[in-house]
Amino acid sequence: MSTQYEVFAVKYARHKRRASENFIGGDPHDGPMPLDYFVWLLRGEGREIVVDTGFSAAVAAKRGREHLRCPAAGLRLLGVDCPKVQDVIITHLHYDHVGNFDLFPAAALHLQDLEMRYATGRHMQEAKHGGAYDLEDVVGMVRRAFAGRVRFHDGDAEIAPGISVHLVGGHTMGLQVVRVRTRRGWLVLASDASHFYANMEQRRPFPIVWSVEDMVDGYRRLRELADSPAHIIPGHDPLVLERYPAPAEELRGVIARLD
Ligand SMILES: [Zn+2]
Repeated sequence: MSTQYEVFAVKYARHKRRASENFIGGDPHDGPMPLDYFVWLLRGEGREIVVDTGFSAAVAAKRGREHLRCPAAGLRLLGVDCPKVQDVIITHLHYDHVGNFDLFPAAALHLQDLEMRYATGRHMQEAKHGGAYDLEDVVGMVRRAFAGRVRFHDGDAEIAPGISVHLVGGHTMGLQVVRVRTRRGWLVLASDASHFYANMEQRRPFPIVWSVEDMVDGYRRLRELADSPAHIIPGHDPLVLERYPAPAEELRGVIARLD
């Protein structure tokens, strides 16, 4: 019997914004279109793998985001002891995906070669590309690499049986998505390959982007990797918490079980 994993999305912050901020070229109706922030947990066969580490309350204050809970506290609601976690997949190094990685001192951090190159290279001199990176996160990741605690990947790689990462790029140079085998088939955590369902379904890319071409191509890649469109989980869509059940009544609106 192949390993199947439970998959959870844990909401830790939100941002009230307008639809025009979520699509290249704006939005003709431009109503409110809030954005949620998540970290994810894959659990099975005695393994707990965390996907992304979120940001702290201090960073939320600096960037005008509403911080609801420390991502580690959110994961604790599922019984995760963050200092003991062995593997953390970092989809990309934007501030809202990699802050807090110090809360996982025992973990190997799985990152694409291209993402480190992007975050430490020439393009960071432009606010358009560097603005969503926090310098301290990037420097911290370099330190972690020198300590031998970053597991670099170049393209597709298996993290554990039934869990793999796939380079998609687009949003950033080295964005990777996560494919995981579940009881309902192959699920894909898209992270920022598609912030909202609408980005991929309507082929309307999010405006923070390294390569529009790669981002649109990424929507096709997500479809290839997932068993169906309903097996793709966007990175920031509040609809995720509406479409999927909470693992317990008291966790409604905070955690969704995706498998
Ligand atoms: Zn993001």
